[in-house]
Amino acid sequence: SFENVGFIGLGNMGSRMANNLLKAGYKMTVHDVNCNVMKKYSDMGVSTKQTPFEVAEASDVVITMLPSSSHVLNVYNGPDGLLQGGDLLTPQLFIDSSTIDPQTSRKLAVSVSNCILKEKKENWENPVMLDAPVSGGVVAAEAGSLTFMVGGSEDVYLAAKSLLLSMGKNAIFCGGPGNGSVAKICNNLAMVISMLGLSEALALGQSLGITANHSFLTLQCVFMFLMHSCFLLGKKSGGGERVRESLIRIYMFSRACEAGLVLSRICSIILKCAQCDSDSYNPVPGVMQGVPSSRNYSGGFASKLMAKDLNLAAASAEEVGQRCPLTFLAQNIYTEICNDGHETEDFSCVFQHYYSGKSE
Ligand code: NAD
Repeated sequence: SFENVGFIGLGNMGSRMANNLLKAGYKMTVHDVNCNVMKKYSDMGVSTKQTPFEVAEASDVVITMLPSSSHVLNVYNGPDGLLQGGDLLTPQLFIDSSTIDPQTSRKLAVSVSNCILKEKKENWENPVMLDAPVSGGVVAAEAGSLTFMVGGSEDVYLAAKSLLLSMGKNAIFCGGPGNGSVAKICNNLAMVISMLGLSEALALGQSLGITANHSFLTLQCVFMFLMHSCFLLGKKSGGGERVRESLIRIYMFSRACEAGLVLSRICSIILKCAQCDSDSYNPVPGVMQGVPSSRNYSGGFASKLMAKDLNLAAASAEEVGQRCPLTFLAQNIYTEICNDGHETEDFSCVFQHYYSGKSE
């Protein structure tokens, strides 16, 4: 069991996750490069430290929730990083919940396992690492209902599960090191390409004279293509059985679809599978209540984060030599959306900003 929890990266997601751990009664030590955030926590009576290394010294387990791979590498391997001092470490477990590329997750897992524990703990020979990125966004982070996709050893996952479930409602074991990151980027890939397919179909449907909430359109080909790409990427990147199983299920479903299914029903099923825990996600303003499109695309999953995750998927696909044409197209589209100033809007804003301008 873990008593002393270190937390690094108290941004939109991390602060809410750390607050849930505090509520659950863990003894916390935190660090962020942002001084205002640190002040907020010290005012709350939480122990704050100036460096990741000092956090490690005070913790049995350290959780990181940082923007991207370079920040994570810096926090682990930097001069005052978590692994400074080389081999003698206090924490037995490191959990990285940032969305980063699987290759970096795997390299870090090796670096951690090459270190030695300062004090041997029962059943723990060496310090270990789990990659445990999340889906759900800030609303789920606040409510403690995130889904964790976990890569590493299964024993360690089981030992960490109750800690993870203090911040989430679900923790899915995806296999060896890096497989949590594989599951996360493939999950977002399936979600974003289905959003593009959905927006494109709705825009065309509207242009051809039917209303968005009563469209009968054939999306079978788009889905088959999409699921093929995601399935192959998951497989080539060494994604776990769970990733493969869920993608196969979606793929089988798309094959079973007959032309002319009700669009909103297809989308809600696909998106539920793709995001693990999402609700239906109609991108057309005014069609559905309680989704980002009904509030000017605010309060959702920012396009710039989706662009970042697409960059990770595209780089991973290139590295393993996987053909993923839709990924690269989606990457270009979201880069354009961000360059046009919509980077903070929910990723469903592609309907408004990309598809609304018709070509001649
Ligand atoms: P954020 O930018 O709000 O927070 C990141 C925090 O890390 C900031 O407080 C920043 O000051 C801190 N930080 C940066 N470099 C640091 C360093 N070297 N040392 C210590 N602290 C440092 O980002 P976020 O929205 O909380 O996202 C965090 C991660 O979660 C990202 O990888 C993102 O892709 C992923 N994610 C985000 C969402 C979402 O909806 N926001 C959903 C799922 C996953």
